[in-house]
Amino acid sequence: MLLAGQNKFWGKNVEETTKVWLSFGIKHVMIKNTENFPLISTDGTVREKDFKKLGKLQEEYDVKYHFHPYNTMIKLNGEKYRLQNLDCLSNKTRLTFAKILKNIDELIQENNLYPLIVLHLPVLDYPGSEEKQAAEKALESGKEFFQSLEIKSTIGLETTHDPYRNPGFSLLGNKALHFAEIIGNKKNINIVIDTGHLNMAEEPLKKFIDLPYQIISLHFNGNDGKSDSHEIPNRNNMKDIELVEKLLEKIKGPIVFEIKEYSKENILKLIENTRNGKII
Ligand SMILES: [Zn+2]
Repeated sequence: MLLAGQNKFWGKNVEETTKVWLSFGIKHVMIKNTENFPLISTDGTVREKDFKKLGKLQEEYDVKYHFHPYNTMIKLNGEKYRLQNLDCLSNKTRLTFAKILKNIDELIQENNLYPLIVLHLPVLDYPGSEEKQAAEKALESGKEFFQSLEIKSTIGLETTHDPYRNPGFSLLGNKALHFAEIIGNKKNINIVIDTGHLNMAEEPLKKFIDLPYQIISLHFNGNDGKSDSHEIPNRNNMKDIELVEKLLEKIKGPIVFEIKEYSKENILKLIENTRNGKII
């Protein structure tokens, strides 16, 4: 079982974060891009020095890092785009994003980082379109983008909550069929289950497990079903508990404690239960 922490909410910088998780006995950290550790500059340049730094920290502390650059904002031709907007944009912008991912992939190889990049599916953000039309467009361009992407790292596409549950953050990924359409027969694209997002979606976990793709990683957190609050996961703030317990046993890739909790005692309890494959 490969347990992992995350850098968001933890410590002032990536080294501090790493030390916090190490103090819990966790030797793997998922790196989200943050303001003081952006990975990618707003002009779209991938920051080589951030990846070098992680390579050095890996050696110094005997840890591993993988990536979830979900929050990347870049400016192209005066307009701001999020990395997850990539599929609803013009071909030119899409190529820019493909280049960014290719660059990240090269820096992962060069610095011997853990070869997993976790991304979201396209957003449903097409001005003037109805929801159904927007979904069709997003599926079409997502398919085109991901199926033509040539990189060595594994891509993990993350499940998300139903769009209407969180209006400011509507994207594909709440239905198994979105993954089937977008991944098709493409190798090295797999699925990341987020238990908190599942708790805010109609689709049962089984539908995602039954897809012909590997579950490569798990984002382990819970919520009240209304907001994506990233609480310590338990039997009451997640769905499909038995299946999640089975996944904990089975998954080879990182099980990420994607939580906001700061209490050392609660976290240590969670880690122990998780190692035993139990959700309390
Ligand atoms: Zn997540």
